[in-house]
Order: sequence, then structure tokens, then C-alpha cells
Amino acid sequence: MSTNQTEFDRARAAMPGGVNSPVRAFGSVGTTPRFFVSASGPRVTDVEGREYVDLVGSWGPAILGHAHPAVVKAVQDAATRGLGFGASTPGETALAELVEARITRDGARPIEKLRLVSTGTEATMTAIRLARGATGRDLVVKFAGHYHGHSDGLLAEAGSGVATLAMPGSAGVPAPIAAQTLVVPYNDLDALGEVFAARGDDIAAIIVEAAPANMGIVPPARGFNAAIADLAHAHGALLILDEVLTGFRVGPAGWYGIDPVAFAPDLITFGKVIGGGMPLAALGGSAALMDLLAPLGPVYQAGTLSGNPLAVAAGLATLENLDAAAYGRIDAAAALIAQATASALSAEGVAHVVQSSGNLFSVQFTATAPHHYDSVKAQDAFRYPAFFRAMLDQGVSLPPSVFEAWFVSAAHDSEAVSQIIDALPAAAKAAAEATPAT
Ligand SMILES: *Cc1c(COP(=O)(O)O)cnc(C)c1O
Repeated sequence: MSTNQTEFDRARAAMPGGVNSPVRAFGSVGTTPRFFVSASGPRVTDVEGREYVDLVGSWGPAILGHAHPAVVKAVQDAATRGLGFGASTPGETALAELVEARITRDGARPIEKLRLVSTGTEATMTAIRLARGATGRDLVVKFAGHYHGHSDGLLAEAGSGVATLAMPGSAGVPAPIAAQTLVVPYNDLDALGEVFAARGDDIAAIIVEAAPANMGIVPPARGFNAAIADLAHAHGALLILDEVLTGFRVGPAGWYGIDPVAFAPDLITFGKVIGGGMPLAALGGSAALMDLLAPLGPVYQAGTLSGNPLAVAAGLATLENLDAAAYGRIDAAAALIAQATASALSAEGVAHVVQSSGNLFSVQFTATAPHHYDSVKAQDAFRYPAFFRAMLDQGVSLPPSVFEAWFVSAAHDSEAVSQIIDALPAAAKAAAEATPAT
């Protein structure tokens, strides 16, 4: 019979690390990755027939719950009409119109035109090329601990799997390309100001996670996004707001819509939720900027599978079903789980903070809330593997890294939430007993 272990052994012989994306290998949590065969609502089932309440949610896309009937039906219907044509389809326009209408705040509408791509990596990579094309400048500013996908220029001090593996960057990135990226500590306007004072005339753009969630949750300081938008604009640079993770998750207009201080991004990138579980991502901005893309403008970008009809159908069905009631359920469940996690760790005397940005949250094993990557890295991360495994043993699937957000879906009903909350005390105890050596 197939087990998680036999599947992993077979996978490792056939694929590097046994995976197609590094964090899936469970390297930082010290147990065998689970191989899933199916999922429904808030639950996933592995090859051994074990069911888990899921807080990964496909890293965000499963926001309505796994295999939501409306999304599955939309994909099935699209499939019967053809898997792709390499030509335009009406659905792509419908999705673009929906995104352009939904991303709005106080009458402002930062997205007048949208381009669909297949991954978040492509979206941010294209946004940067567009910013360079628009400004005629080469330098890009990113923040330490932020993750924007795996393109060459964006891996320096990146979050997510790069943080999980404690890698400073990646081999294979030419030094002249790495030199075009300036890395600045997050939530530090002074450091950013110094970079602009020194190089402001050469900076094409700042790229920022709207609310960082790839080093665990580290909320932006109040007004931070507005301040960096103003700084960029004062120097003729653009602000690229990366909402690949937060877009359509923390609210209908993403983090842009709920940041305590309104601000004006130039380009916004989307991924994850926008594809409803299928490979789909996007970038958008003003018509003047977006029309610099080929075929109208000089900035080239293309994709054989861009705007794939099955992916578009999944995205449309997901966004259409993300109503106020769905966000209400996600927010409420997330608040309950975050609160219960903090209580369970307090009861065991484990130093921790649970930071939240909207309905996104994660635990950090430190007494004082980290506001940037250095303080995130200084936490007692050794406590997380024990915590994670104890949850997994009790049928709760958490992200396999302390540097990732916990993803709640609209399908997390009271039964699923209770199952998570009931598992927390034993996990907190395991975290308390963990030692740095293990
Ligand atoms: C996941 C993520 C990306 C990369 O998206 P992929 O689809 O994995 O290429 C980029 N930016 C942020 C903020 C992300 O969370």
C-alpha cells in the first residue's frame, strides 16, 4: 500500500527534493511531507486516507474552501468547450473588468487595464520590466524578508521558501543583475530615505508586499505604504504593490482597500486567489502605464497559456462567490483561531506573538512583535517544528514553515475551527518542551 513515506521516497528519486516547490519538502519541520489525493471544503486527505483540517489552502487560492462546487463546475464547463485556444476569449475581458471594478477606494480606481499571466512570479517580473521601461531607470528597491516570486532580481533576502531554507539569495543569479536590486529593511523610512537620497534618480520602482506575509505576518507600520508611495513619486519612481497573496483575500479590494491610510500605487500584482486554484496571475495599473506593454508599447511580455480559459473560469467563479458573507466567515474564523493560538501558548508560558494583517495571521516565537526581517529571524524558530508536528498528529495541516501565513477559508465552519482549537493545547505543550538542539 502506498504511504506518505513510500510516495516521498519515490518522489525524491524522480524529482529534486521530491517536490516541485521547495517548502513542500517539509525540510524545516522534521517530518515526512503528506501526499494528498483529494480535498473538500476545509479538509484535505492524504494517500493513507487520513483527513486534516487545512490551514494552507493551496497557499491562498482555496479561499472558498477546496473544490468549491461553483468553481469546479465553471472549470468543468470551460473544459468541455476546449482547454485553450492561444487566442482571445470573452472570459478574459470579463475577468479584467471585474478586477478593474473591484479594486477601488474612495472613488479612486488604480487599475484601468489588466494583463493576465500564469504565475505571481511572472506578474512581478513584468511589473518591474514595465516600471523600468516607463522610467528609463534600472534600479529596483525591495524590502528584506519580502517575497515576490523567483525571478533573478527579486531573490535577494527573500521571504517564503528562501527564508525557510535560510538562504541569503540564490546561486545562478548574475552579480550585475543582483546589483540592480537595493534591499532595505522593512518598516524603516529612514533607511529608505537614505537610499533615495543617494540613488533616487536611478530608481525605477519600489516593490513591496502590501502587507508582508512571507516572513510570517509583519504588518506595515501605520501610513508606511502611503509614505513609500510619496517618496517614490517625489523621485519620479513607481510603487509596485505586490498583492499576489493579499489580493482578494483580506478584502474585496485587497490590502489597498483596507490599509488604515489610503495611498496610490502605480502597479498592482495579483496571483493566488485570482486564479481560484488554477495557474493565473495578473498585473494592472493606469491605462497610460499598461499601454506601454506590447503590442501597443515597447515593453515586451507574452505567454502561451496566459488567460487560459479554465484558469479564467476558476478565477471568475471564485471572485463572483467572494461576497461580504464569505469575508465575514473568513475574518471571524481567523480571529478565533489566532486568539486561541495565543491563549494556548500563553497557558504554556511560551514567549510568542500572533501578528495579524486582516484575516492573515501567523505565530512568531518571540516576546516582542517583529517589525522587520532581522527580528523575525531572531525568534525561537526551533519551537515551530514541534508545534507543527503536534498539530499534524491531531489532524491539522499548518504551513510547514514558521515564515508562512495561515490561510483560513470561507468553508472553515465551526466544526473545523473547533478541531483546530482543540488541537492547540497539545501543540503549545510540544512547543514549550522543544529545545534548540532538536
Ligand atoms: C506567492 C507570491 C508570489 C509568487 O507567486 P507564484 O505564483 O508562486 O510565482 C509573489 N509575491 C507574493 C507576495 C507571493 O506571496
